[in-house]
Amino acid sequence: MDKNIFRIKKFIALFLAISLALAGCSQVTVQNSSNSTSNKEKSQANNVSATGSGNLEVHFIDVGQGSSTLIESNGHYMLIDGGDSKYASRVVSYLDDEDARKLDYVIATHYDADHLNGVVGALEAYDADVVIAPDYKAESKIYQSFTRVMKEKGIKITYPETGKKYKIGDAEFTILAPNDTHYDDANDYSVAIKLVNGNNTFILTGDAEIESEYEMLETGIDLSCDVYLAGHHGSRYSSSEAFLQAMQPESVVISAGKNNKYGHPSDEAMARINAMGCDVYRTDQLGDIIATSDGKNIKFNVKKSFGGSKKKKNSTTKTKGEFIGNVNSKKFHEKDCGSVPDEENRVYFNTADEAESAGYEPCGNCKPE
Ligand SMILES: [Zn+2]
Ligand SMILES: [Zn+2]
Repeated sequence: MDKNIFRIKKFIALFLAISLALAGCSQVTVQNSSNSTSNKEKSQANNVSATGSGNLEVHFIDVGQGSSTLIESNGHYMLIDGGDSKYASRVVSYLDDEDARKLDYVIATHYDADHLNGVVGALEAYDADVVIAPDYKAESKIYQSFTRVMKEKGIKITYPETGKKYKIGDAEFTILAPNDTHYDDANDYSVAIKLVNGNNTFILTGDAEIESEYEMLETGIDLSCDVYLAGHHGSRYSSSEAFLQAMQPESVVISAGKNNKYGHPSDEAMARINAMGCDVYRTDQLGDIIATSDGKNIKFNVKKSFGGSKKKKNSTTKTKGEFIGNVNSKKFHEKDCGSVPDEENRVYFNTADEAESAGYEPCGNCKPE
């Protein structure tokens, strides 16, 4: 990513982090105006009454370096992304095995190839009622294929509206993002959803990064969840501290390829996730991951990944919380410095560089570096 964009993102993120800290983190009042209409509107796919076992299956399909999730409730199906070209046929046959030959919903979170290829494959192979995808254009072959298959099938894109709810079988999902109409980074256009089955909640954010995460926080929608599919394959630009704090996920799933060239999942994101004590499930270690919810409990088909982080035990890399800034004095400290501020005046940094580029000065006593 362009370094300037990253700088800007960091600035926005820090500004928001500070505003949230000053607001006491509890009252975020921005409400999306579409909320009022959304409850009344039912998707076209909802003619079937909600009966049945109430089981919800969420399949995090192993598509190497990419993402693809199949959701099933009471015979109703939704596909979110479909992985890269190498895995498109695997996704199509996975859907066939699961009897998902008619999809109530397809979500193309955004138009990057590692998400979109299998969506095109699935749309070519099967019928879909509602296709939700973001409102921007990409200049790629796979995007052209996407618009072509949509035309051929006579499907119009349903653009995401934050707060809008859709029923899928006995479950329901709400659109969380995107919340803006222009982003510098295509990943931030990602359609994010909150999927609810009884008392169980899943949050999936595509490749949304910190900018979109803060916008989701600003909507005021309750983000607490049981399972979170780590944004952008566990990139360090996603799964920010504030977003994780709002979600408090019990389990985090990471969809990434073995030894992928991007280094997903990043040590930074893993440190933030591990610091919250989440169970971690990684497709690069476990293959397909299936979470089944009965409305009260969630069971996984695999044992959790051991040591979610790639980091060795004796690593000297600093983790989240090593640097604590004081939003009033604009000084930052080592975690164990005697001068760290009260919780409500803190902002956390992963590195001293990060703190300094945010305009914080090192404390003269602990000399953080
Ligand atoms: Zn991706
Ligand atoms: Zn992406």
